[in-house]
This record gives sequence, structure tokens and C-alpha cells, in this order.
Amino acid sequence: MVCQVELICIGNELLIGKTLNTNAHWLSKRITSLGCIVRRTTVVRDEISEIVASTREAIARKPDFIIITGGLGPTFDDMTLEGVAKALSRKLEMNDEALEMLRERYAEFTKMGRIKDSNLTEYRLKMARLPQGARPIHNPVGTAPGVTIHENSTTILVLPGVPQEMEAIFEASIIHLLRDKSDGLFYVERSLQVLGVVESSLAALIDRVMLEYPAIYIKSHPIGSEPEVHIELHLTTSSRNKEGAEEEISKAMEKIQVLISQKGGRTGFV
Ligand code: AMP
Ligand code: MG
Repeated sequence: MVCQVELICIGNELLIGKTLNTNAHWLSKRITSLGCIVRRTTVVRDEISEIVASTREAIARKPDFIIITGGLGPTFDDMTLEGVAKALSRKLEMNDEALEMLRERYAEFTKMGRIKDSNLTEYRLKMARLPQGARPIHNPVGTAPGVTIHENSTTILVLPGVPQEMEAIFEASIIHLLRDKSDGLFYVERSLQVLGVVESSLAALIDRVMLEYPAIYIKSHPIGSEPEVHIELHLTTSSRNKEGAEEEISKAMEKIQVLISQKGGRTGFV
């Protein structure tokens, strides 16, 4: 079974159109490239009831991983851990390891002159209160640690919303977890630019090539609104045999190029 991942992005800013959900975009690309499948992304507001419902719904689908971003900070609207704890019927408790991480971080930031004092105020302590049984993950960039929680067969990973922090934790501590679960699958993708054939005419050609190469998924993306039709064909496949997959995808590429030229179209590489 291919490693299944769900994303939950938390933040009002994402739902009022202030912030583009680049975390979902970045994570989807990264997770796919690691041979896993992102099954679903849910975006919810900073509200306990929404966080509880989306977490429970995701757990019920039994993915291998649920990656949650946002709402880990010190302010009143950062309530992700409270919501996740409630969803799992666990209490929030002070986690010594997380406390130590915060203590070190604030001491370091004080030494660097980035903040004035390293006191662990109630707002700062909030970031060390984790659901029972959770483990903190070192944050190489900011203060709030990430969090790992195991619930039945699902691993829940809670990461900060700030993209640089989320990405740094993912690269340092999450990648190997996904790789271990990805069943040795490699993801291969190629793009081809098509001019002079409309999408409705391309449809039959795509069907033909996908029938001949069933492991290859071909998706057409119409681009822009130029007078001349311009379509990007995106070919993807996953396989344990990377060289074999690359060979298959090259053959499928050649085939579709021949069919397109027979229809009077032109192709080029993106
Ligand atoms: P938070 O951890 O929820 O306090 O988020 C901190 C900041 O990270 C927000 O103000 C946003 O600018 C940014 N952020 C949060 N979630 C996302 C997201 N899904 N995509 C891009 N940026 C985000
Ligand atoms: Mg937020």
C-alpha cells in the first residue's frame, strides 16, 4: 500500500484570502517526490471545533500521516495543540523535552540580541504544553517545536505555520519518516509543451497512450489565454524501479509526440 498522507492547514488568514496556502503547495510537491500520496488537504479556521472535527475526520480515514500546519505559536489564536488533544481525547501536559528546547532557544536568542530576556513567560510556556504521549520535534529556525503524536496506525505531525520553520523541520526530521513508509517508490515526472492542437483533440491521444502505458498518468493543463492554443502535458509515474520508470515515461513521451505531430500540432519541452 502506497504511503497515504493528509494535510490540515490551520489559519483564518488562509480563508480570508490574506495568505496564500504555500505550505500545502510546498508539502504536496515534496511529499509526492518522496513516493507518497497526498490524499486530501483540509483548510480550517483558528477555532477549536474546526480543528477537532478536521482532525477526527482525517484520523477516521486512517492515513499513514496527518501533517498539520499553523497555530503552534504563543498568541490566543494559536490553538492547534489544544484542538488536537481534544480530538484525541488526551490532556495537554507540560512536556519536559519541549520545555528544554524552548529554554535553550530563548537563551540563544537573548545571547544573540534578538530578544531582551529569556524568561519563560506563560505565553512561551504554552508552546511546551503538548497532548499526552506526544514528542516535540526540534525547530532549527524558530521557537515553537514541532510535535509528533501516534494514534493507532497514524502518525500526526504538527508543524509551525511560518513556511521557513515548517520547511526546516520537514527537511531535518520528517523526510526519513515518509521515506521509510514510501515502500521504496520513486516518483518521476516530465512535461511537454503542446501548440496547435486543442484539448478536445488531445483527449483521444492521451487515452491511447495511457492505454499503451498504463503506469503513466497524463494530465493536460491549458495555459494562458493566448490566441494560439498552448497546453502543458504533465506525465507522471511511481515505481520501485527508477530507471525503468524513466524509460517508460520517455517512451510514452515519444509516442504522444508522434501522435500530436500527426494531428498537425507542435511540441517542445517546458
Ligand atoms: P501561525 O503558526 O498559525 O501563527 O502562522 C504564522 C504565520 O505563518 C502566519 O501569519 C502566516 O503568514 C504563515 N502561514 C501560516 N499558515 C500558512 C500556510 N498554510 N501557508 C503559508 N503561510 C502560512
Ligand atoms: Mg495562525
